[in-house]
Amino acid sequence: MGATGGALRHVARARGYAVTLGRGVAAAGLVSLVLTPAAGAQSTGGATPQYAPPPPDLSSPPPGVPARKAPELRSWRCVRSCQDRFTAGTGSLVRVRGRALGRTYEVVFLGADGEADDVAAAPLRRKRNVVDVRVPLGAASGPLLVAHHDGLSSQVSAAALTVAAPVTLQSAGAPPTVEVQAQARRAFFDAARPAKVSYVVHDDSAARVLVELVRSSDGTVVTSWDAGQVAPETPQSLSWDGTVGGKLQKAGRYSFRVTAVDASGGRAVSAQAEPPTSNPAEIQFLQHEFPVRGPHYFGEFAARFGGGRGHQGQDVFAACGTPLVAARGGVVKFKQYHSRAGHYIVVDGERTSIDYTYMHMRSAALVDEGDRIRTGQLIGYVGQTGRASGCHLHFEMWTGPGWYDGGKPFDPLPSLVSWDKTS
Ligand SMILES: [Zn+2]
Repeated sequence: MGATGGALRHVARARGYAVTLGRGVAAAGLVSLVLTPAAGAQSTGGATPQYAPPPPDLSSPPPGVPARKAPELRSWRCVRSCQDRFTAGTGSLVRVRGRALGRTYEVVFLGADGEADDVAAAPLRRKRNVVDVRVPLGAASGPLLVAHHDGLSSQVSAAALTVAAPVTLQSAGAPPTVEVQAQARRAFFDAARPAKVSYVVHDDSAARVLVELVRSSDGTVVTSWDAGQVAPETPQSLSWDGTVGGKLQKAGRYSFRVTAVDASGGRAVSAQAEPPTSNPAEIQFLQHEFPVRGPHYFGEFAARFGGGRGHQGQDVFAACGTPLVAARGGVVKFKQYHSRAGHYIVVDGERTSIDYTYMHMRSAALVDEGDRIRTGQLIGYVGQTGRASGCHLHFEMWTGPGWYDGGKPFDPLPSLVSWDKTS
């Protein structure tokens, strides 16, 4: 993280920023926005923003992209391997009914209040009005919700699922076996929900457990946890924050491997499924999340970085009201309204010197200056405040030490495109 000292912030805030429009070459009338430090504005404060001459005529705004419908969860019941329709165990089949379920990415088993015990599972089957899912390892009793890939989610179910304690099937004297399941298929660095795995040792006595994190690309064990003695038939979980020895790890696939050794020397290592079978203990670790949660397209010409006259970011077009989330967690350095930028914020990224800027939000950001925010946290909605024609996010990335503070803007499009593929 770059410096975020209060004094520095005050100096930066006192600077004036002049805004000039890029040349009106934008197809579809895209406005290109350029914020540049006002000539002559001193960091001693008092400088008022200076503005360039009025912009050229804007042609008609680009066609909006319709916002998608959030999934609706109306009811659910346990349909196979259940104690009764509301009582399940790990592996029981739950059928969820509702609307707009065809794009269900995962069903979240919410457990108790708070995100700590949330566990997600990908559906086995999904149709417009019905989704089937198995109760994942580590799921705790509580309500459910349905989430789409782009972050839209249903309301929380009215009824709560009761997860019964697992039944011991292990015969006395048999060697242990272990079952391992990642709690979500994707994990973003610095997200509210860290990468998490659940496992259970099936045995007739306690076993010594070691959990290793294996990088899928080359099989390297990047870190491990000694879980000590673990009671049998008791789901355990642990989380990984994306770092090893304080160093942020590369984005990519990783899997959790659990080894259990019991008192009589019986040993079990969790299975590592080979492609094309998906490994339930594997996660995709990502350092950023795509900031627009909904249908979108990338602007061209003046909407590109460097398009128009020094357009310093990339425009991402989406329907007004589409949720905007933080591409990377960090600290909100600025939250302001500017006649050209509209409602905007600048975020000093966590464990990176990069600053991330989000402009033209529909209304003031949902987070405040000084807030520590998380990757994927809702920060506002796509809008067209300020000088914008058509609803879009104007997104900038700046090198350290940061936005109008000694850093330089660089083209964020390659990053956006890669985040878009994996978010
Ligand atoms: Zn722009």
